[in-house]
Amino acid sequence: MSEWERLLERLKNEIGEAAFHGWFRTMTVKRVAGGEAVIAFPTRFLRDWVARHYAECLLRVWRVENAEINRLSIIIEPQGDGLARDEPAGGSLEEPAAAVEPAAGIEGGEDKTLSGPLDPRFTFENFIVGKPNELAHAAARRVAEACVAPVSVPFNPLFLYGGVGLGKTHLMHAIAWHVRSHAAGCKVIYLSAEKFMYQFIRALRFRSIMDFKEQFRSVDLLMIDDVQFISGKDSTQEELFHTFNALVDQNRPIVISADKSPNDLNIEERMRSRLGWGLVADLHPTTYELRLGILQSKAEQAGIRLPQKVMEFLAHKIVSNVRELEGALNRILAQMQLIGRDITLESVQDVLRDLIRANERRVTIEEIQKKVAEHFKIRLVDMGSPRRERSIVRPRQVAMYLAKQLTSASLPAIGKKFGDRDHTTVMHAVKKITELIASDGVLAEDVELLQRMLQS
Ligand code: ADP
Ligand code: MG
Repeated sequence: MSEWERLLERLKNEIGEAAFHGWFRTMTVKRVAGGEAVIAFPTRFLRDWVARHYAECLLRVWRVENAEINRLSIIIEPQGDGLARDEPAGGSLEEPAAAVEPAAGIEGGEDKTLSGPLDPRFTFENFIVGKPNELAHAAARRVAEACVAPVSVPFNPLFLYGGVGLGKTHLMHAIAWHVRSHAAGCKVIYLSAEKFMYQFIRALRFRSIMDFKEQFRSVDLLMIDDVQFISGKDSTQEELFHTFNALVDQNRPIVISADKSPNDLNIEERMRSRLGWGLVADLHPTTYELRLGILQSKAEQAGIRLPQKVMEFLAHKIVSNVRELEGALNRILAQMQLIGRDITLESVQDVLRDLIRANERRVTIEEIQKKVAEHFKIRLVDMGSPRRERSIVRPRQVAMYLAKQLTSASLPAIGKKFGDRDHTTVMHAVKKITELIASDGVLAEDVELLQRMLQS
């Protein structure tokens, strides 16, 4: 065993297998001379972390092997092809200065020129969790936490998908904020797929493609938003694919978002399979409860008190997505401030008339009945017929449930469309299906599928 190998062995014993693997796998020794040992890490994040948490320990262990060592320098040396870079496209990655002292200061590691701006409101604290987004939220948190602790993410990449305005971008920014505040030296790149393509084309044009590759391949966390944008853009896809592979091979977390699942994206097969490798988490259409929760929180943040009735009305009427819900709230606020009117149900209805109409146009009860009947292979007339066999009742209840979730119709209005049934029947159906969704995986999937189909 060489001195170096013995040193690694000692270090492993000292800090444990997991931490050793997590932090020191990529460490290389540059030189040992004049009482100084110089080691290198491929990224600033690793360098800073080790400098902050392990420098003393490392020095101590080293001195057991070689008592002459009295100084440890930890530098950054990107691992790569070693090719010269002709154009350091703003914020270069090269780190000429070595972080010498164990308590090396840590500064923001994300590359300002590459990373898109982050919305300060998009944090985990401001994200309301409900059934429709709980998996995506938990997965995003997991990635954020793994990035600031010496463990690797259990899945890579994380693929978030869902319709527009359901919180994909919010979750990605939240990850970035979390990592920024807990591990400032961690190099995070967040950008839209569109911007990725733009940077890529620019790099091609200015012959700085090596630079480009290296910047993307040396990040500690890469997040690309809205990848549906690159469908049909072959060379960008190719580049992204190689970037993914390079990062996954180094165990660096990647987070991707799209408006469709990997299977439904119009992209190359190998890209598709790569995207689906890790965890695929979807953001489902919002439920009434989630919308109400979001409204409460946003109103609180804005420092206004909305009558409960108004919030319920909004959660009921604005069913499309969270962005529109926020838009509605902002309009109410603006109107009230400008005109100085009190916020009442009537004034809100007035201010939002067009928005409400647009939301109502989306799904009709008839459409729901038709799709549900087709799905469960029952006759459409049985949606309103008096038949009470279970094979009919269950689909009918599903349709009532969906009518409640996806339209703004009242319970009595829904009942009317189902063969003039009483509103308590609808209420019972909604309760029943809500319970079943929690306990019956097959039914939950059916409902989910129908909901998606109806909303697309
Ligand atoms: P997407 O990227 O999926 O189209 P965004 O992340 O941009 O959607 O979300 C649209 C708006 O809705 C943002 O202002 C975001 O803060 C808000 N939003 C979405 N989901 C939630 C949630 N669960 N809690 C709080 N705000 C949310
Ligand atoms: Mg978005």
